[in-house]
Amino acid sequence: MRILVAEDEKAIADLLAEGLRRHGMDVDVAYDGAAALACLAAGDHDVLVLDRDLPEVHGDEVCRRLAQSGATVRILMLTAAGGVADRVAGLGLGADDYLAKPFSYAELVARVRAVGRRRVAPIPPVLERAGITLDAPHRQAYRDGRYLPLSRKEYAVLEVLMRARGTVVTTEELLERAWDERTDPFTTVVKATVSKLRARLGEPSVITTVPGGGYRL
Ligand code: CA
Repeated sequence: MRILVAEDEKAIADLLAEGLRRHGMDVDVAYDGAAALACLAAGDHDVLVLDRDLPEVHGDEVCRRLAQSGATVRILMLTAAGGVADRVAGLGLGADDYLAKPFSYAELVARVRAVGRRRVAPIPPVLERAGITLDAPHRQAYRDGRYLPLSRKEYAVLEVLMRARGTVVTTEELLERAWDERTDPFTTVVKATVSKLRARLGEPSVITTVPGGGYRL
């Protein structure tokens, strides 16, 4: 999941970014509203963690402009004011969720994950990475031009890994994104599917196991 943290208090911004990275997220940081908009225009972010009271371009205005431009990034707004009126105003401007400071770190991570899951990212018709080509409209995969006969789940896992573009995807995220129902709470099914996918992709191996329960391609 790719995140942009927009917060003008640098110490807080960097702390939030560091914490989200520890949860396997790919995090950029902007210290004002103008920088946030520029960063969003240049990257394919899933979630914007947006401090409402931002210099240069106010958080409300950032929301407004994103809504106008049809951006698909999901917005989690942070604000010092926890009043109902502020909350309603923020959501009315296009924020997907709202968190009043001070908040618990666990709650932030949970909310970021929840709004990120709601994003419907534009799917590029063809994804290419490390010699692997994914033809998304036809759900077919190739390695160096050779067709790969993948099961539905193997394809889904490969697509999630390729869309992460080299960032770590946790086992939990794979379960959420590639499986419709959580039929196996012990995540052994993910491990087994990745293992089969590796065999199908052949050598040299392109999927790296990351200590702590994740994968990257
Ligand atoms: Ca602020």
